[in-house]
Amino acid sequence: MAGTQPQESAASIAARVESFVRTVVVPFEQDPRRDHHNAPTDVLLFELREMARAAGVLTPHIRADGSHLTQRETALVLIASGLSPLGPLACNTNAPDEGNMYLLGHVGSAEIKARFLDPLIKGRTRSAFFMTEPWAEGGAGADPSMMKTTCRRDGNHWRVDGRKCFITGVAGAGIGIIMAKEHQADGKGGACMFLVELPDPAIRIEHVPNTIDNSMPGGHATVLIDNLRIPADQMLGQAGEGFKYAQIRLAPARLSHCMRWLGACIRAQEIATDYACRREAFGKLLIDHEGVGFMLAENRIALKQCELIIDWCADVLDTGALGTAESSMAKVAVSEALMKVADNCVQVMGGTGVTDKTIVEQVFREIRAFRIYDGPTEVHKWSLAKAIKRDWKQAQQA
Ligand SMILES: Cc1cc2nc3c(=O)[nH]c(=O)nc-3n(C[C@H](O)[C@H](O)[C@H](O)COP(=O)(O)OP(=O)(O)OC[C@H]3O[C@@H](n4cnc5c(N)ncnc54)[C@H](O)[C@@H]3O)c2cc1C
Repeated sequence: MAGTQPQESAASIAARVESFVRTVVVPFEQDPRRDHHNAPTDVLLFELREMARAAGVLTPHIRADGSHLTQRETALVLIASGLSPLGPLACNTNAPDEGNMYLLGHVGSAEIKARFLDPLIKGRTRSAFFMTEPWAEGGAGADPSMMKTTCRRDGNHWRVDGRKCFITGVAGAGIGIIMAKEHQADGKGGACMFLVELPDPAIRIEHVPNTIDNSMPGGHATVLIDNLRIPADQMLGQAGEGFKYAQIRLAPARLSHCMRWLGACIRAQEIATDYACRREAFGKLLIDHEGVGFMLAENRIALKQCELIIDWCADVLDTGALGTAESSMAKVAVSEALMKVADNCVQVMGGTGVTDKTIVEQVFREIRAFRIYDGPTEVHKWSLAKAIKRDWKQAQQA
């Protein structure tokens, strides 16, 4: 069964997830079943999911009755699942599925939920979110309003054409959420979101680049969408409201990345601490050298700060607010702080830190990418600066 029982507390769920990840998932970190981009294969993924199902920790952030844990509760559970890079995949708390489930749960009609959300909650398939487009064609990137992919109404269908890139997990996914701009003569068409079953011959994977990260099955593909015909009832919500729905997904999805990577860095810190408390240099343990001890101390402070800002932002989202500015602040603070935490862990472990003997090296690489996806740090700061200027202006007029 997927989902957790309504009466179980989030702390209890998180404890069970942590125990599962540490005892069952961690031994698979050296499993050789990897694809040509060194990401876990779907065979490995679904094997782990069956173990999670048996242990009652599959999709633990969604209750068996379909309700979602609060963001504050979700933090406990997702941090625990992040303790291994394989944990979110095993427990079905990974991106982009977790964000996609949240979106469908909040915007999907009963039919959309039954057809597209249920299989995701049950962990039977994976999904992909299609927004970004190749920069060389002037498409959507940090600025989604530059979207070039078009959709045109054609009787009971929509026709979608365009090219997307960095589409995580599309190779092997069973469900896609595609964003496109409605074609209008004046160029003022709004954005639309569509649900599709994958694979579809009209969606062709052109290229899967080698990337700095490798925890995501399927990698991050460039795809050509060529004359894709989608039945009108597979539009999510209303035409022209696509960016509004993207906003609904945005803040919780950003925050859940922070939660999972905090879990990963807590584990990296444990591994680095273990090394520093066993390894000697110049007649004493590494941890007793101030240079090393201070790195671990700074990490401990940073990890606590990340936890606090995640909880603060979760509380804002739990009031029902969109939390756009708060999730920007949390995303910048956490991704930048964890980059330094992971770097310190590598440094403490010397040469061992850059080998694949532990997950520390992987966590360091992957957090680099986290500073870019779900909004690069500079874009969040830029939008915060705009808000600061607006507030200043309002204060002047008051
Ligand atoms: C690992 C990974 C997974 C991804 N998965 C997906 C996915 O599943 N689906 C999807 O649709 N997309 C995905 N993306 C794409 C991601 O959302 C984009 O990379 C991101 O939005 C930035 O767009 P871009 O790469 O086109 O960068 P650009 O738009 O070219 O921006 C480049 C840089 O310019 C700077 N910049 C831009 N605007 C400003 C500004 N206003 N002020 C200051 N500096 C600015 C920033 O430093 C930014 O990093 C993924 C990306 C990565 C790396």
